[in-house]
Amino acid sequence: MKTTEILKELITIKFWDGLSNRELLDYFHKAFKGCDIHEITETRTGNPYMVIGINCKLKNQKDAIILHGHMDTIVPPKEWDISPRVIDGKLHGLGSVDMRGFFAGIISALPELKKMKTPIILTISSDEETAIYGTDKIIEFLKSRRITPQLVIIGEPRMAPEYVAPYHNGCSVQKFVVKGKGAQMSVPQLGTNAIVYASKIVEFLNALKITTTVVEIGGGGSIATVPDTCEFKVLFSFPTQTEFNKEITKVKKYIKSLETGTQNLQISTEIMAHLPPLEENQSPKLMGVLEKMGVKLFDREVASKTVTEGGIYSNFCPDTIIFGPGDLKLCHVQDEHTPIEKLEAYPIKLVELLKEF
Ligand SMILES: [Zn+2]
Repeated sequence: MKTTEILKELITIKFWDGLSNRELLDYFHKAFKGCDIHEITETRTGNPYMVIGINCKLKNQKDAIILHGHMDTIVPPKEWDISPRVIDGKLHGLGSVDMRGFFAGIISALPELKKMKTPIILTISSDEETAIYGTDKIIEFLKSRRITPQLVIIGEPRMAPEYVAPYHNGCSVQKFVVKGKGAQMSVPQLGTNAIVYASKIVEFLNALKITTTVVEIGGGGSIATVPDTCEFKVLFSFPTQTEFNKEITKVKKYIKSLETGTQNLQISTEIMAHLPPLEENQSPKLMGVLEKMGVKLFDREVASKTVTEGGIYSNFCPDTIIFGPGDLKLCHVQDEHTPIEKLEAYPIKLVELLKEF
Protein backbone atom coordinates (compact mmCIF):
# COMPACT_ATOMS: atom_id res chain seq x y z
CA MET A 1 0.00 0.00 0.00
CA LYS A 2 3.03 2.25 0.26
CA THR A 3 2.98 3.50 -3.34
CA THR A 4 -0.77 4.11 -3.18
CA GLU A 5 -0.42 6.26 -0.05
CA ILE A 6 2.31 8.35 -1.69
CA LEU A 7 0.23 8.72 -4.83
CA LYS A 8 -2.73 9.97 -2.77
CA GLU A 9 -0.51 12.73 -1.37
CA LEU A 10 0.79 13.62 -4.82
CA ILE A 11 -2.73 13.84 -6.27
CA THR A 12 -3.76 16.41 -3.65
CA ILE A 13 -1.06 18.82 -4.93
CA LYS A 14 -2.57 20.74 -7.83
CA PHE A 15 -0.29 21.78 -10.65
CA TRP A 16 -1.33 22.54 -14.18
CA ASP A 17 -0.80 25.27 -16.78
CA GLY A 18 -1.20 28.66 -15.12
CA LEU A 19 -0.40 27.46 -11.57
CA SER A 20 2.91 27.46 -9.66
CA ASN A 21 4.72 24.16 -9.13
CA ARG A 22 6.39 25.30 -5.87
CA GLU A 23 4.32 23.03 -3.62
CA LEU A 24 5.20 20.02 -5.73
CA LEU A 25 8.90 20.96 -5.85
CA ASP A 26 8.88 21.27 -2.05
CA TYR A 27 7.27 17.84 -1.79
CA PHE A 28 10.03 16.35 -3.95
CA HIS A 29 12.74 18.17 -1.93
CA LYS A 30 11.38 16.47 1.19
CA ALA A 31 10.84 13.05 -0.41
CA PHE A 32 14.36 13.00 -1.92
CA LYS A 33 16.13 14.50 1.11
CA GLY A 34 19.82 13.65 1.08
CA CYS A 35 19.92 13.24 -2.73
CA ASP A 36 21.73 15.70 -5.02
CA ILE A 37 18.90 18.01 -6.14
CA HIS A 38 19.13 20.74 -8.74
CA GLU A 39 16.38 23.07 -9.96
CA ILE A 40 16.60 24.40 -13.51
CA THR A 41 15.11 27.85 -13.93
CA GLU A 42 12.38 28.03 -16.54
CA THR A 43 11.83 31.45 -18.09
CA ARG A 44 8.58 30.83 -19.99
CA THR A 45 6.36 30.11 -17.00
CA GLY A 46 8.71 30.51 -14.05
CA ASN A 47 8.06 26.92 -12.98
CA PRO A 48 11.46 25.23 -12.51
CA TYR A 49 12.36 21.75 -13.70
CA MET A 50 14.09 19.35 -11.36
CA VAL A 51 17.02 16.98 -11.65
CA ILE A 52 17.76 14.57 -8.82
CA GLY A 53 20.84 12.41 -8.41
CA ILE A 54 19.20 9.63 -6.41
CA ASN A 55 22.35 7.68 -5.53
CA CYS A 56 24.98 9.92 -7.14
CA LYS A 57 26.22 13.46 -7.56
CA LEU A 58 24.98 15.36 -10.61
CA LYS A 59 28.41 15.51 -12.18
CA ASN A 60 30.66 13.29 -14.32
CA GLN A 61 28.38 10.25 -14.44
CA LYS A 62 28.92 7.68 -17.16
CA ASP A 63 26.34 5.03 -18.05
CA ALA A 64 23.69 6.57 -15.84
CA ILE A 65 20.05 5.50 -15.82
CA ILE A 66 17.66 8.40 -16.32
CA LEU A 67 14.09 8.20 -15.08
CA HIS A 68 11.94 10.94 -16.57
CA GLY A 69 8.49 12.31 -15.92
CA HIS A 70 6.47 15.53 -15.89
CA MET A 71 4.86 17.26 -12.95
CA ASP A 72 1.88 18.88 -14.61
CA THR A 73 -1.55 17.45 -15.23
CA ILE A 74 -4.08 18.64 -17.76
CA VAL A 75 -6.24 21.60 -16.73
CA PRO A 76 -9.37 19.88 -15.34
CA PRO A 77 -12.84 21.22 -16.09
CA LYS A 78 -14.49 22.68 -12.96
CA GLU A 79 -17.10 19.94 -12.63
CA TRP A 80 -14.56 17.08 -12.32
CA ASP A 81 -13.88 15.43 -8.98
CA ILE A 82 -10.08 15.43 -8.97
CA SER A 83 -9.48 14.39 -5.35
CA PRO A 84 -7.86 11.04 -4.48
CA ARG A 85 -10.35 8.29 -3.60
CA VAL A 86 -10.29 4.50 -3.66
CA ILE A 87 -13.19 2.71 -5.36
CA ASP A 88 -13.21 -1.06 -5.99
CA GLY A 89 -9.44 -1.46 -5.68
CA LYS A 90 -8.67 1.48 -7.93
CA LEU A 91 -7.22 4.84 -6.98
CA HIS A 92 -9.09 7.68 -8.66
CA GLY A 93 -7.98 11.30 -8.99
CA LEU A 94 -6.30 13.72 -11.38
CA GLY A 95 -2.78 12.57 -12.14
CA SER A 96 -3.36 9.03 -10.87
CA VAL A 97 -2.50 7.87 -14.40
CA ASP A 98 -0.78 10.82 -16.11
CA MET A 99 1.62 10.70 -14.37
CA ARG A 100 2.06 10.93 -10.64
CA GLY A 101 1.94 7.14 -10.24
CA PHE A 102 5.42 6.97 -11.74
CA PHE A 103 6.81 9.34 -9.09
CA ALA A 104 4.98 7.50 -6.30
CA GLY A 105 6.63 4.28 -7.51
CA ILE A 106 10.10 5.84 -7.49
CA ILE A 107 9.65 7.37 -4.04
CA SER A 108 8.51 4.05 -2.60
CA ALA A 109 11.48 2.28 -4.24
CA LEU A 110 13.96 4.86 -2.89
CA PRO A 111 15.69 2.66 -0.27
CA GLU A 112 16.43 0.09 -3.01
CA LEU A 113 17.48 2.70 -5.58
CA LYS A 114 19.87 4.38 -3.15
CA LYS A 115 21.72 1.08 -2.67
CA MET A 116 22.41 0.58 -6.38
CA LYS A 117 25.86 1.05 -7.90
CA THR A 118 24.69 2.33 -11.30
CA PRO A 119 24.02 6.09 -11.10
CA ILE A 120 20.28 6.76 -11.12
CA ILE A 121 19.02 10.20 -12.00
CA LEU A 122 15.44 11.43 -11.96
CA THR A 123 14.58 14.30 -14.32
CA ILE A 124 11.26 16.09 -14.02
CA SER A 125 9.84 18.60 -16.49
CA SER A 126 7.05 21.06 -15.71
CA ASP A 127 5.09 21.71 -18.86
CA GLU A 128 4.61 18.52 -20.78
CA GLU A 129 0.86 18.82 -21.12
CA THR A 130 1.11 22.14 -22.99
CA ALA A 131 3.77 21.45 -25.63
CA ILE A 132 6.30 19.05 -24.12
CA TYR A 133 8.48 21.88 -22.85
CA GLY A 134 11.58 21.30 -20.82
CA THR A 135 13.19 18.09 -22.01
CA ASP A 136 15.66 19.95 -24.26
CA LYS A 137 16.73 22.12 -21.35
CA ILE A 138 17.13 19.13 -19.04
CA ILE A 139 19.31 17.31 -21.62
CA GLU A 140 21.39 20.47 -22.02
CA PHE A 141 21.94 20.47 -18.25
CA LEU A 142 22.95 16.78 -18.21
CA LYS A 143 25.44 17.38 -21.02
CA SER A 144 26.90 20.42 -19.24
CA ARG A 145 27.48 18.21 -16.17
CA ARG A 146 29.03 15.46 -18.31
CA ILE A 147 26.29 12.96 -17.51
CA THR A 148 25.78 10.31 -20.19
CA PRO A 149 22.97 7.76 -19.96
CA GLN A 150 22.94 4.10 -20.92
CA LEU A 151 19.19 3.82 -20.39
CA VAL A 152 16.28 6.28 -20.25
CA ILE A 153 12.90 5.30 -18.84
CA ILE A 154 9.97 7.61 -19.53
CA GLY A 155 7.27 7.00 -16.94
CA GLU A 156 4.28 7.86 -19.15
CA PRO A 157 1.40 5.41 -18.67
CA ARG A 158 1.78 2.32 -20.86
CA MET A 159 0.45 -0.29 -18.44
CA ALA A 160 3.73 -1.10 -16.76
CA PRO A 161 4.85 -3.35 -15.21
CA GLU A 162 3.13 -5.70 -17.69
CA TYR A 163 3.91 -3.66 -20.80
CA VAL A 164 6.60 -1.47 -22.31
CA ALA A 165 6.42 0.80 -25.37
CA PRO A 166 9.71 1.18 -27.26
CA TYR A 167 8.04 3.26 -29.99
CA HIS A 168 5.77 6.12 -30.90
CA ASN A 169 5.33 8.38 -33.90
CA GLY A 170 6.82 11.82 -34.27
CA CYS A 171 4.62 14.83 -34.80
CA SER A 172 5.20 18.08 -36.64
CA VAL A 173 2.92 21.07 -37.02
CA GLN A 174 3.58 23.35 -39.97
CA LYS A 175 1.94 26.52 -41.21
CA PHE A 176 1.61 27.10 -44.96
CA VAL A 177 1.06 30.62 -46.28
CA VAL A 178 0.00 30.88 -49.92
CA LYS A 179 0.18 34.34 -51.43
CA GLY A 180 -1.40 34.92 -54.86
CA LYS A 181 -2.73 38.07 -56.49
CA GLY A 182 -6.06 39.73 -55.92
CA ALA A 183 -8.19 40.84 -58.87
CA GLN A 184 -11.71 42.12 -59.39
CA MET A 185 -14.31 39.45 -60.10
CA SER A 186 -15.04 41.07 -63.47
CA VAL A 187 -11.48 40.12 -64.54
CA PRO A 188 -10.59 37.03 -62.46
CA GLN A 189 -8.06 35.94 -65.10
CA LEU A 190 -5.80 38.79 -63.93
CA GLY A 191 -5.53 37.31 -60.44
CA THR A 192 -3.90 34.26 -58.87
CA ASN A 193 -6.38 32.59 -56.52
CA ALA A 194 -4.50 31.66 -53.34
CA ILE A 195 -7.25 29.26 -52.20
CA VAL A 196 -7.03 27.27 -55.43
CA TYR A 197 -3.29 26.75 -54.95
CA ALA A 198 -3.72 26.01 -51.24
CA SER A 199 -6.18 23.27 -52.14
CA LYS A 200 -3.71 21.81 -54.66
CA ILE A 201 -1.13 21.57 -51.87
CA VAL A 202 -3.64 20.01 -49.46
CA GLU A 203 -4.45 17.40 -52.07
CA PHE A 204 -0.74 16.71 -52.56
CA LEU A 205 -0.22 16.37 -48.79
CA ASN A 206 -3.07 13.88 -48.52
CA ALA A 207 -1.33 11.58 -50.99
CA LEU A 208 1.89 11.43 -48.94
CA LYS A 209 3.04 8.22 -47.27
CA ILE A 210 2.85 9.79 -43.80
CA THR A 211 -0.37 10.83 -42.08
CA THR A 212 -1.28 14.45 -42.68
CA THR A 213 -4.24 16.29 -41.21
CA VAL A 214 -5.22 19.82 -42.09
CA VAL A 215 -6.22 21.26 -38.74
CA GLU A 216 -6.98 24.88 -39.66
CA ILE A 217 -7.55 26.89 -42.84
CA GLY A 218 -8.45 30.51 -43.64
CA GLY A 219 -8.36 33.05 -46.46
CA GLY A 220 -10.42 35.11 -48.85
CA GLY A 221 -13.80 36.28 -47.62
CA SER A 222 -14.89 38.81 -50.21
CA ILE A 223 -17.20 37.91 -53.09
CA ALA A 224 -15.89 40.88 -55.12
CA THR A 225 -12.22 39.89 -55.38
CA VAL A 226 -10.06 36.88 -56.13
CA PRO A 227 -8.51 35.87 -52.78
CA ASP A 228 -4.83 36.78 -52.58
CA THR A 229 -3.95 34.88 -49.37
CA CYS A 230 -4.72 31.51 -47.86
CA GLU A 231 -3.15 30.07 -44.72
CA PHE A 232 -3.46 26.61 -43.32
CA LYS A 233 -1.91 24.45 -40.60
CA VAL A 234 -1.05 20.79 -41.04
CA LEU A 235 -0.25 18.11 -38.50
CA PHE A 236 2.13 15.40 -39.72
CA SER A 237 2.47 12.09 -37.92
CA PHE A 238 5.36 9.81 -38.89
CA PRO A 239 7.11 6.67 -37.61
CA THR A 240 10.69 7.69 -38.45
CA GLN A 241 12.51 10.96 -38.96
CA THR A 242 13.98 9.64 -42.25
CA GLU A 243 10.51 8.98 -43.63
CA PHE A 244 9.35 12.45 -42.59
CA ASN A 245 12.38 14.13 -44.21
CA LYS A 246 11.78 12.18 -47.42
CA GLU A 247 8.13 13.20 -47.66
CA ILE A 248 8.83 16.84 -46.76
CA THR A 249 11.42 17.01 -49.56
CA LYS A 250 8.66 15.93 -51.96
CA VAL A 251 6.41 18.72 -50.64
CA LYS A 252 9.16 21.32 -51.09
CA LYS A 253 9.74 20.16 -54.66
CA TYR A 254 6.03 20.32 -55.42
CA ILE A 255 5.76 23.85 -54.00
CA LYS A 256 8.75 24.96 -56.08
CA SER A 257 7.14 23.57 -59.24
CA LEU A 258 3.90 25.43 -58.48
CA GLU A 259 5.77 28.68 -57.90
CA THR A 260 7.83 28.46 -61.07
CA GLY A 261 4.83 27.50 -63.18
CA THR A 262 2.51 30.25 -61.87
CA GLN A 263 2.69 34.02 -62.01
CA ASN A 264 2.43 35.96 -58.74
CA LEU A 265 2.49 32.88 -56.53
CA GLN A 266 4.56 32.67 -53.36
CA ILE A 267 4.34 29.87 -50.82
CA SER A 268 6.10 29.85 -47.47
CA THR A 269 6.14 27.27 -44.67
CA GLU A 270 6.87 27.61 -40.99
CA ILE A 271 7.54 24.84 -38.47
CA MET A 272 5.39 25.56 -35.41
CA ALA A 273 6.27 22.46 -33.41
CA HIS A 274 8.34 19.38 -34.04
CA LEU A 275 8.46 16.38 -31.75
CA PRO A 276 10.70 13.55 -32.90
CA PRO A 277 9.49 9.95 -32.95
CA LEU A 278 10.68 7.29 -30.54
CA GLU A 279 12.24 4.91 -33.03
CA GLU A 280 13.00 1.26 -32.38
CA ASN A 281 16.74 1.65 -32.11
CA GLN A 282 17.00 0.05 -28.68
CA SER A 283 19.80 -2.43 -28.11
CA PRO A 284 19.17 -6.20 -28.24
CA LYS A 285 20.51 -6.29 -24.67
CA LEU A 286 17.74 -4.03 -23.35
CA MET A 287 14.99 -5.74 -25.30
CA GLY A 288 16.34 -9.13 -24.20
CA VAL A 289 16.24 -8.11 -20.52
CA LEU A 290 12.62 -6.94 -20.86
CA GLU A 291 11.63 -10.16 -22.59
CA LYS A 292 13.36 -12.25 -19.92
CA MET A 293 11.41 -10.33 -17.28
CA GLY A 294 8.15 -11.19 -19.05
CA VAL A 295 7.36 -7.60 -20.05
CA LYS A 296 5.20 -7.54 -23.19
CA LEU A 297 5.18 -4.98 -25.99
CA PHE A 298 2.40 -2.41 -25.75
CA ASP A 299 -0.06 -2.28 -28.68
CA ARG A 300 1.92 -0.67 -31.52
CA GLU A 301 -1.13 0.86 -33.20
CA VAL A 302 -2.26 2.64 -30.02
CA ALA A 303 1.28 3.58 -28.91
CA SER A 304 2.18 5.05 -32.29
CA LYS A 305 -0.54 7.68 -32.01
CA THR A 306 0.92 9.20 -28.86
CA VAL A 307 3.83 11.55 -28.31
CA THR A 308 6.14 11.69 -25.29
CA GLU A 309 9.46 13.14 -24.20
CA GLY A 310 10.92 9.80 -25.30
CA GLY A 311 11.49 10.95 -28.87
CA ILE A 312 13.62 13.87 -27.70
CA TYR A 313 15.51 11.68 -25.23
CA SER A 314 16.15 8.97 -27.83
CA ASN A 315 18.43 11.35 -29.75
CA PHE A 316 20.54 11.55 -26.58
CA CYS A 317 20.26 7.84 -25.69
CA PRO A 318 18.96 5.21 -28.16
CA ASP A 319 18.01 2.91 -25.27
CA THR A 320 14.93 4.94 -24.38
CA ILE A 321 11.67 3.20 -23.49
CA ILE A 322 8.28 4.15 -22.11
CA PHE A 323 7.63 2.13 -19.00
CA GLY A 324 5.11 3.74 -16.69
CA PRO A 325 2.09 2.56 -14.69
CA GLY A 326 -1.50 3.29 -15.69
CA ASP A 327 -3.70 2.77 -18.69
CA LEU A 328 -3.14 5.16 -21.59
CA LYS A 329 -6.88 5.13 -22.34
CA LEU A 330 -7.54 6.60 -18.88
CA CYS A 331 -5.34 9.69 -19.36
CA HIS A 332 -7.00 13.07 -19.74
CA VAL A 333 -10.46 11.76 -18.89
CA GLN A 334 -12.87 12.71 -16.14
CA ASP A 335 -12.52 9.47 -14.25
CA GLU A 336 -8.77 8.94 -14.33
CA HIS A 337 -7.96 5.91 -12.16
CA THR A 338 -5.39 3.20 -11.72
CA PRO A 339 -5.60 -0.32 -10.22
CA ILE A 340 -3.83 -0.42 -6.84
CA GLU A 341 -2.50 -3.93 -7.43
CA LYS A 342 -0.63 -2.85 -10.60
CA LEU A 343 0.54 0.35 -8.98
CA GLU A 344 2.10 -1.55 -6.06
CA ALA A 345 3.75 -4.01 -8.46
CA TYR A 346 5.39 -1.23 -10.48
CA PRO A 347 8.31 -0.21 -8.20
CA ILE A 348 9.21 -3.87 -7.60
CA LYS A 349 9.50 -4.55 -11.33
CA LEU A 350 11.28 -1.23 -11.94
CA VAL A 351 13.95 -2.12 -9.38
CA GLU A 352 14.25 -5.58 -10.95
CA LEU A 353 14.83 -3.96 -14.35
CA LEU A 354 17.36 -1.42 -13.07
CA LYS A 355 19.35 -4.15 -11.32
CA GLU A 356 20.10 -5.64 -14.75
CA PHE A 357 22.24 -2.59 -15.60
ZN1 LIG B 1 1.77 12.76 -19.69
